[in-house]
Amino acid sequence: MTSLTKSVVKSAGRLRGLVLAYWFFSSFILAAFLGLVDIVERQREVLNDAEHSRDFVEATFAAPIGLASRQALISAYARSPRVDEIDGLNMLLIVDNVGKIIYSSLPAARGLAITDPQLERTETNDPDFKAVVRCFQQNGKNCVDINSANLFLNAGSFTVTRPLELPSRDIGLASDRLLVMFNYDPGVVFVDYIQDLVVISMLSLLSSGLLSLALWTVLSRRLLPQLCEDVNTDGLTQLYNRTLFMEKAQDLLAEAEEMSRDFVFAVIDVDHFKRINDTYGHASGDEALSHVADVFRAVIRPEDLVCRFGGEEFALLLGTNRENGGRALERLRLQLEMTRLKIGGQKLKITASIGAAYTGECGYNIDYLYNVADKALYVAKQAGRNRLEWTDGRVASRLAR
Ligand code: GH3
Ligand code: MG
Ligand code: MG
Repeated sequence: MTSLTKSVVKSAGRLRGLVLAYWFFSSFILAAFLGLVDIVERQREVLNDAEHSRDFVEATFAAPIGLASRQALISAYARSPRVDEIDGLNMLLIVDNVGKIIYSSLPAARGLAITDPQLERTETNDPDFKAVVRCFQQNGKNCVDINSANLFLNAGSFTVTRPLELPSRDIGLASDRLLVMFNYDPGVVFVDYIQDLVVISMLSLLSSGLLSLALWTVLSRRLLPQLCEDVNTDGLTQLYNRTLFMEKAQDLLAEAEEMSRDFVFAVIDVDHFKRINDTYGHASGDEALSHVADVFRAVIRPEDLVCRFGGEEFALLLGTNRENGGRALERLRLQLEMTRLKIGGQKLKITASIGAAYTGECGYNIDYLYNVADKALYVAKQAGRNRLEWTDGRVASRLAR
C-alpha cells in the first residue's frame, strides 16, 4: 500500500488530535512535577542558607572581638552576597531569651525589645515572624525551634529561625540561649522560581513533544495504515474487501480521468458455487474461495486492484485499455478453469463468469461501472457461464438515462 486511503487519513486526523492532547497533557504533568521538585529544592536552599548564616553568627560569637566589631561584622555579612546566594534577606536579628534584639543587620533595630513599637515599623507582615515573636515574649525558651520557612504559603515575607547555644565566651549576656531570625523577601525567591518555571515548561514541552512526535510517526506511518488495511482485508482470501477496494478504485479512477487513462472494471462470479458447498461442505467451499483468490493473485499485475466483493463474487480494476483488459480477463478465466483444486481426493474444476466494463465507453464513475459490469455478468451467466461478456451500449445507455 503506497498511498494513505481516505479511511486512514480520517483516522489519522483523529489520532493527531489525540497525540496533540497527549503532548500538552504530558507536558503539563511533567512541568508540574518538575515545578514541585524545584519548590522543594528552593526551600531546601533557603534552609541551608539559614544554617550557614547561623554558623557564621556562631563563629562571630566565638571570635575574641568587641561588641561593636561583632555588630559591624553581622551587618556586613547580611549585606554581602553570601555562600549560597539566596538574595532577598530583609534582616537578620539575634534575640536573647527575654526578647531583646542584641544584634541586627539593621543597626537601628539593635537594642530594641522584640515588643518595641519601633520594631513594628521595621518589621515585616510575615505572620510567622509575629508568631515567633509572640511565643518568644511568652515563653522565650521554648520558641527557639520554631521553623517558619514556608515558601508555599507566604506572599509577604517569610522568616526562618535557628536556635543558637550561648557562646562559651563571656560576652556579658545573662541569657543562655539565643534566637537567630532571618527574614526573607519572597519576591526574589519567587522571581528565581518563575525563571526556573519558564525553563522547566520549555523543556517539558520539548521533551514531551519529541516523544509525541516519535509516537505520532510510529502510529501514523506504520500502525494505523497496517490496522486500517487489516480491518479492510477479507479474512478468508486475504484480498481487499469491498470498502477498501471501492475507496482505492475511486482514487485511481479520479486520477485516470484527469489524465485520460483507460481502465477496465470487471465483476467475477464463481459458477455454481452453491454446488461445491452442497457437495463437499462449507469448509471445502471456503477452500475453493481461497483457491480462486490465489489464482487471481498469481495472474494479475501488482498495480491492478482485486477484491472479494462478497460471497463468491470478486471485482477487478485493471489499468489498461479494452483490448489488453479483455486478454487479461480471458487469461484469468482460463487459468482458473485449468488450475484444478483437490477436494476430497478429487480434482475439482472451478470456473467463473466475468462481466466487464471499459472506461472509454462507460466513464469513470465506479458505481456506474459496477452496475453495467454486473449486467454484463448476468448476460454471461445466461449465455452458459465460464465466459467473459462486455457491457453493451444498450445497457449502459439505459442506466445512463
Ligand atoms: P451462479 O453460477 O449462478 O453464480 O450460481 P452460484 O451457486 O454460484 O450462486 P448462488 O448465488 O446461488 O450461490 C452462492 C453461494 O455461495 C451461496 C452461499 O452459501 C455461498 N457462499 C457465499 N459466501 C460464502 C463463503 O464465504 N463460504 C462458503 N463456503 N460459501 C459461501
Ligand atoms: Mg456464483
Ligand atoms: Mg453470486
